[in-house]
This record gives sequence, C-alpha cells and structure tokens, in this order.
Amino acid sequence: MSASPTGVTVLGATGTIGVNTLDVIARHPDRYRAVALTANGNVERLLEQCRTHRPDYAVVADPAHEGALAAGIRAAGLSTQVMAGPEALEQVAALPEVDAVMAAIVGGAGLLPTLAAARAGKRVLLANKEALVMSGRLFMDQIRASGAQLLPIDSEHNAIFQCMPPNFGQGLSQVGVEKILLTASGGPFRRLPAEDLEAVTPEQACAHPNWVMGRKISVDSASMMNKGLELIEACWLFDSTPDRVEVVLHPQSVIHSMVAYVDGSVLAQLGNPDMRTPIAHALAWPERITSGVASLDIMDIARLDFERPDMARFPCLRLAYEAFNTGGTATAVLNAANEVAVEAFLAGRIRFTDIPRLINHALETLPHQPADSLDRVLAADREARAVATAAVREGQYRGRP
Ligand code: NAD
Ligand code: MG
Repeated sequence: MSASPTGVTVLGATGTIGVNTLDVIARHPDRYRAVALTANGNVERLLEQCRTHRPDYAVVADPAHEGALAAGIRAAGLSTQVMAGPEALEQVAALPEVDAVMAAIVGGAGLLPTLAAARAGKRVLLANKEALVMSGRLFMDQIRASGAQLLPIDSEHNAIFQCMPPNFGQGLSQVGVEKILLTASGGPFRRLPAEDLEAVTPEQACAHPNWVMGRKISVDSASMMNKGLELIEACWLFDSTPDRVEVVLHPQSVIHSMVAYVDGSVLAQLGNPDMRTPIAHALAWPERITSGVASLDIMDIARLDFERPDMARFPCLRLAYEAFNTGGTATAVLNAANEVAVEAFLAGRIRFTDIPRLINHALETLPHQPADSLDRVLAADREARAVATAAVREGQYRGRP
C-alpha cells in the first residue's frame, strides 16, 4: 500500500450508495481520503458529510443551492472549496489528486461526470448503471483508451466480476465461460396477482423485501426494469451477448449472481444484502478490506429458491432485451423514457402498469440512430424525455405492451 491515502471523489455522496461508500471510507482513514463530495441539492446532508470527512471540494449540481452550501461550510470553519453546476461535477471527477471515482449519481445525470472520470483514467467504481445503458460502446471505448479501471458496484455485476477469471477481457468463450446467471429478487410484486399490479402505490413499490435503496432504483426493481438495465450492463461490462445472460429469480438475494463454465463448474458469490461489500471490494481490489458487513451465517440460510422470470408479467425486462438487440440509441431512449415514467409514477401521475407502456411508446415513436457519438446519445436522451413527458401530459401512449 502506498504511503498517502487513495483520493476518492464520491459523485452522489448523499444517496444510498454514497452514504455506504463514506461508511467504508471512514473505516480505513489510513487507506482512503474523500477529496470531493457531490450532491444534487441535499445541502444539509452534504454539510454533515463535509464536517465528518473534511473533503477539499463540495459540489452541488443545482446552482440554486450554492449559497446555502457556502454559508454552511463557512459556519463550520471548514476550508472545503464550494463549487456548483454540472461542469463542476466533471471537474472533480478528473482532479489529479483523485485516484478513484465512485459514480453513484442516479440516472442519466451521471453520464457526463462518469465519462469524465473514465477519460481521466481513474479507477471508476460504477454504480450508475444508467450511464452504461445510455452509451455502452462509447463508455467502454473511453475506458480502454485511457487505461482506466472499471469496477462494478452493482451487487450482481460485482459478484460476476468476482466469479470471472482475471483474463475475461480476452472474450468469454476464450476463457471457458458458458453463461452468466444474473440473479433477481423479483421485487415486492413477485407474488402479486398480475391484475393487481395496476393499483399498486409508490409506497408499495419502494418497499423492497431485501435491499434499502433510492426511490428510482426501488421502482425499477419492482417493475423489473432494474434487471433489464442490469442485463444491458452485464453485456457491456463482460462483452457478452444477451443470450449468454440468464435472468434467474432468487427471492432470498443471498447469491448475488453466478458464472457457469464449460467444464460444468458454476461459481457464485454469496453474502448478506449490504452494498458495503461490493463497495469495499471495488475500492480495495485486488486486496480485501473490512466493510462493516458481517459474514454470512451459512447455517442461517434455510433454503435457496430459484425460478424463471415471467416476461409477460414484467414487460420492462422484455423491452430492455429488445432495445439492446436493436442497438444504437434504442437503449438511451429506453432509459430516458423509463426515468420520466418512474418520476411520473412516484408523483402519482401514471399507474405502475403505464411505465412499460410509456417506454414502448417512446421506442416506437423515435427513429433508431447509431450511438456513435456522445451528441447522438444526448440528443436521443433529450428527445425521449420530451416524447415521454408529452405522453404523460396527454395521457396517451400507443402500441404494446
Ligand atoms: P439515491 O437516490 O439514493 O441517490 C442519488 C444521488 O444522486 C444523490 O446523492 C443525489 O443528490 C444525486 N443526484 C440526483 N440527481 C442528480 C442530478 N440531476 N445531478 C447530480 N446529482 C444528482 O440513489 P442510489 O440508490 O444511491 O443509487 C445511485 C445509483 O446507484 C443508481 O444509478 C442506482 O441504479 C445504482 N445502484 C444502487 C444500488 C442501491 O442499493 N442503492 C444498488 C445498485 C446500483
Ligand atoms: Mg443490482
């Protein structure tokens, strides 16, 4: 280990992943130092984190909160430099004194700062799966071009990474991997009769049986769009095709995913459902550090169940498969329409079952383009948001499902 601690920028410090990241960092002050912390607008929590972690920079994405943040930093007697706006997020992701960047902003808002970290050759700890869904090829090209290290934080992808051979970058067939088994808890509505899905509330959707998470990913888990995004994420991270990734319902969330090899071996990573495990793994890799998570009591696991997912019941999963197969900007459209739909559902403006309808509407309305430049991806994102927002307003969306 080097003498000076590893400098870390935490993008989305005030969210669930951000808070867990700072918890792990605080356990190892000799190894890690928070250089920059960012938030959208939760100034109170960001200030509390600044008092504890004394970062060099604190950033609010929304400039309306800059004054309050600056006043709080002054009142606390801290020398932390205050910055604001989307460009400031990119700046702190690329600082020379930063070695690792936790990409934990939710949604497409995380794309540019996460790409900035990749471009600057940082160790990118990727929680922000939407960034990869929007622009997988550009993102992976950027990582390779700069020699950045990409470590997955999503528990399933972190598990897959742990079960892969070190040389998986040569190609899955070359290293004897037959398939990836991507586990899914099935969310809170796995057992709900399909006809009752229409009437579920945001509170019910956010009550995940096994994990505590932000509201957007909680709704995604309930609709299984989270697994759809994760399928796309797995294909990019491990250079796989969708037919090599099998989604397996595993309600206990003890196995976080598996890798099956041609010799008949299946490797799995198991653990308590606590994001500090993948965070600590990715921060320290290839070393291991404590995370605050108790090791799994294997005697406590009464049983492990597995089922096939029901695509008819969860059309979001099917839409994600189809968008990835269509390629180009289709996954950016899928992601943007989903973000609009989830927000509208959380605000009580559409029903839960309207989420896939709205996404389908955007996918059918917009032309497919090659995702060969960042401008194209950002344009597709903007257009899909506009189409989905108009459809919410007018309450009309066509076609399947
Ligand atoms: P969250 O809602 O708890 O936190 C989101 C963070 O992003 C906050 O710090 C917020 O201030 C910031 N943010 C929101 N909008 C922003 C904007 N427009 N500009 C800049 N910053 C903004 O979300 P979370 O549960 O921590 O999830 C974060 C990411 O990690 C998501 O992409 C999610 O899919 C992924 N992830 C989360 C979990 C989990 O267990 N929570 C697991 C796997 C992956
Ligand atoms: Mg996950």
